[in-house]
Amino acid sequence: MGEGNRQTLRMIQNHIPLEIKEYPSGSQVYDWTIPQEWTIRDAWIKNSNGEKIVDFQKCNVHLVSYSAPVQGTFTFEELSPHLHFREDLAEAIPYRTSYYKRNWGFCLSYNDFKKYFHSGEKYEVFIDSEFTNGSLSIGEILLKGESDEEYLISTYICHPSLANDNLSGPVLTTFLIKELMSMKLKFSYRIIFIPETIGAIAYCSFNESIMKKIKSGMVITTVGGPGKFGYKKTFQDEHVLNAIVENVFQEKGVEDFITYPFDIHGSDERQYSSPGFRINTVTISKDRYYEYDYYHTSLDNLDFVNAEYISQTLELYLSLVTKIDKNIVYKSNYPHCEVMLSKHDLYPEIGGGILPQNSQWNELDIILWLLFYCDGTHDLFTISRLLSIPLEIIFQVALKLEEKKLIDRAKV
Ligand code: ZN
Repeated sequence: MGEGNRQTLRMIQNHIPLEIKEYPSGSQVYDWTIPQEWTIRDAWIKNSNGEKIVDFQKCNVHLVSYSAPVQGTFTFEELSPHLHFREDLAEAIPYRTSYYKRNWGFCLSYNDFKKYFHSGEKYEVFIDSEFTNGSLSIGEILLKGESDEEYLISTYICHPSLANDNLSGPVLTTFLIKELMSMKLKFSYRIIFIPETIGAIAYCSFNESIMKKIKSGMVITTVGGPGKFGYKKTFQDEHVLNAIVENVFQEKGVEDFITYPFDIHGSDERQYSSPGFRINTVTISKDRYYEYDYYHTSLDNLDFVNAEYISQTLELYLSLVTKIDKNIVYKSNYPHCEVMLSKHDLYPEIGGGILPQNSQWNELDIILWLLFYCDGTHDLFTISRLLSIPLEIIFQVALKLEEKKLIDRAKV
């Protein structure tokens, strides 16, 4: 929380009309309290020669996030518990936080640790930080479609200077929104940019009744690495969203993807899937969090992530949302016995123009099957799977039946 997050949100506002909302420090949000803002102006460690051997100005990952202010001279032994490095990745600066326990610390490469820190030496430490009452800032945009039934798209903005986890998520989401803004949407999409965990909890608390009505959603994170695509399933294994994601992979020719089962660890799906909300959320990733070597280190940078990777994942999310948007549940207005199609100008002069030449299906068959399945429980994607016909074709025929007032959207 603090000015850095607001700067992030304002930069996103240069691309999309994001609304910034503020939730005050001290607010009780379920079992949590919104903390104070953290302001960091400078931080460094100097050796006995007065040389800065760790410098926040050179890389802001050097400081444990939410470090308390410190000024003083420390022996190696006193300082050691406050130094974080990774012996297994000697050139990387690890990313560490201490949000809810007032503490301080520095992160540095193991190489620098070996070079500059020795038993018996003394070090001058300076952290110019401040905690003040302020507010937690979040960005929100509601893309309104024909229906006010909403899907949630959530991404987080809190890790400093890290590219895959974290910058890739908000970048992809921003460009996804740009694409969606140019489309005529059937459903509505509530999209939020929040600090992870506390931001999601605060948002749920301040928007409880809205969140309880969300149909399902996605948490967009770690989408720009060089590694494999993967997806984390929703908490209900059989939920249609999982099948739609696999359909997207198949259509886009992504055969070698990793399937992560739902797990209580992870990102903000932890909040959205909790008993009070039970929102099924899916995550498509490219080099998912936890899984890649550079995760939560300074090596997760713009050498590791690039625009091409993010754009590849964006294409998958765009296809996913496009399919979700067609996945309407209809119910028949003529549920008792067959509809007399000729009366509605649907028989027999229906052309099969929208279907592939050698298909065993014609439009009349699809009309009959749709009128059979549209009982308020089958969504169009499920019907498309049952009939082995692409969702896009089923959707076009369904729109025709809706226009003829034979079927209507059912609220589920
Ligand atoms: Zn992370």
